[in-house]
Amino acid sequence: MDCIFCKIVSGEIPAKILSKTSQSISFLDAFPLAKGHVLVIPKNHHQKIQDMSSDENADLFSLVHKIISRVDSLTGSTLLAVHNGKDAGQEVPHVHVHLVPRSSSDSAGAIHNMFDSELKLTESEIDELHHKLKD
Ligand code: AMP
Ligand code: ZN
Repeated sequence: MDCIFCKIVSGEIPAKILSKTSQSISFLDAFPLAKGHVLVIPKNHHQKIQDMSSDENADLFSLVHKIISRVDSLTGSTLLAVHNGKDAGQEVPHVHVHLVPRSSSDSAGAIHNMFDSELKLTESEIDELHHKLKD
């Protein structure tokens, strides 16, 4: 598997590791969007969140929970992001949670700034989605 994050897990390529659990590790992003941009990943290779076992998922997010206060202390606000799949903007196909310190002077804005226009759905489209996605 030619995966850059698997190589970080195995120690084949270096990274500024911050913390490890039995199933997850966190390290500094090598091309940070802000000072203190951190990634948290499962040790096992999975492309998407739903490919992980619920145990791995719980371990991953407990490490996010541990690290978030450290990252958040840098600026007082943090963006958490997961690009879950290639078309969602995922460039490294190994699950990773971004923790990016934010500030009022950065250019990122709110989540709605990521998209050019807002969708206007009909009532029936909303009902159909509700039916499709609910328990
Ligand atoms: P994404 O675009 O959501 O797949 O994010 C991949 C992230 O991995 C980007 O923020 C990159 O800067 C980061 N990245 C790529 N290569 C490395 C590396 N060798 N060490 C640490 N972070 C990396
Ligand atoms: Zn991998």
